[in-house]
Amino acid sequence: METVSIATSAGYELSTLRQAVIKLLEPLGGLSAYISRGDRVLLKPNMLSAKEPDKAVTTHPALVRVVAELVREAGGIVLIGDSPGIGRFLRVADKCGIFEAARASGAALVEFSEAVELRGNGTFRSIRLARPYYEADKIINLPKLKTHEMMTMTCAVKNLFGAVVGAEKAGWHLKAGSSRQLFARLLLEIYQLKKPALNIVDAVNAMEGNGPGNGDPIKLGLLIAGANPVAVDVIAGRLAGIPADLLYIEREAVSMGLPGALAEDIVLCGIPVDTIPETRFRLPTGLDVQFGLPPFLAKALKSHLTLYPAADREKCVLCGICRDACPPGAITIQNSALSVDNARCIRCWCCRELCPHDAMLIRRGMLLRALMLLSGTKSDQDSSSSAPSGISR
Ligand code: SF4
Ligand code: SF4
Repeated sequence: METVSIATSAGYELSTLRQAVIKLLEPLGGLSAYISRGDRVLLKPNMLSAKEPDKAVTTHPALVRVVAELVREAGGIVLIGDSPGIGRFLRVADKCGIFEAARASGAALVEFSEAVELRGNGTFRSIRLARPYYEADKIINLPKLKTHEMMTMTCAVKNLFGAVVGAEKAGWHLKAGSSRQLFARLLLEIYQLKKPALNIVDAVNAMEGNGPGNGDPIKLGLLIAGANPVAVDVIAGRLAGIPADLLYIEREAVSMGLPGALAEDIVLCGIPVDTIPETRFRLPTGLDVQFGLPPFLAKALKSHLTLYPAADREKCVLCGICRDACPPGAITIQNSALSVDNARCIRCWCCRELCPHDAMLIRRGMLLRALMLLSGTKSDQDSSSSAPSGISR
């Protein structure tokens, strides 16, 4: 059985949050159950991009600071590191408040730039992870609970993808990103190469809608913790009200037989779940739609049946960030216009995730629009941050 603890925190005020984290960890044996004196402990927050804390894109700096202080008090040496999806590490750290959290707590910031090659035992035989991540004695994973265009939800398991250094992430999107199942497997194999000692989820202010970069903050007032990130994600998904069949990492963890993948194998502690108000996150618009077609037919009809990205001419400033990040190089900018080669596009939605101007729309293929009309599904509009299509729920 895997244990997951839940606690409430009204907000990010430091002393309130500190008490909430202590309460959260109490039923798990306290922080000392995970950290020994002298350990080099790497905190791995979500530092996706240079956004202010109230945008809920990154792990809140107050949580990073509180955990860093508690680890130091337990005798650990604290490092805080990540490899942002977009932007220079120090700029991201500064903007999202983690630079100041590190300074105030006496922790060292480490940029993930150098990687070590590791041998995998599963589908992926060689995976390179950031050296400071791999060489730390203990990892404390500090994910933000958010919706995710490709995987529906990003939380503890997905946050560890940040251990892949910089542009190597795009390479993995290219290798594994054409299938959600394969990408979920990659994430689970990354987690198994270097397991975090503890996961503490920032769900005080989470994100719904078009996460992980352009969604809307939603106040849950919750912290979730456990040693097993798969189990933590199962509970986070239930608390967000996301249907389990859309949680691709959970589904793949079940098929791999990983501990913590089945809700019935998880023991909950902390506050009683029935005291938590029911929530149902708005889902991203980028969720794929297959109508249960056999793969060969879905592939043949890809451009007509699926959603695809297209720039909003009003909002797009032609900065080129999406083009540079697009794993298969499907985006070009020529003569002051951005275009996407739909045949090359693997629907990883990195462009939407990374666009600082929320300018990458989702369009629906012709056949998909027709099917939606026939099935009476409303909303035949392109969308950047509106409600989910609803068709895949
Ligand atoms: S869509 Fe966004 S990231 Fe891409 S060029 Fe336009 S503004 Fe830049
Ligand atoms: S165009 Fe966007 S969704 Fe398509 S492959 Fe490139 S980054 Fe991914």
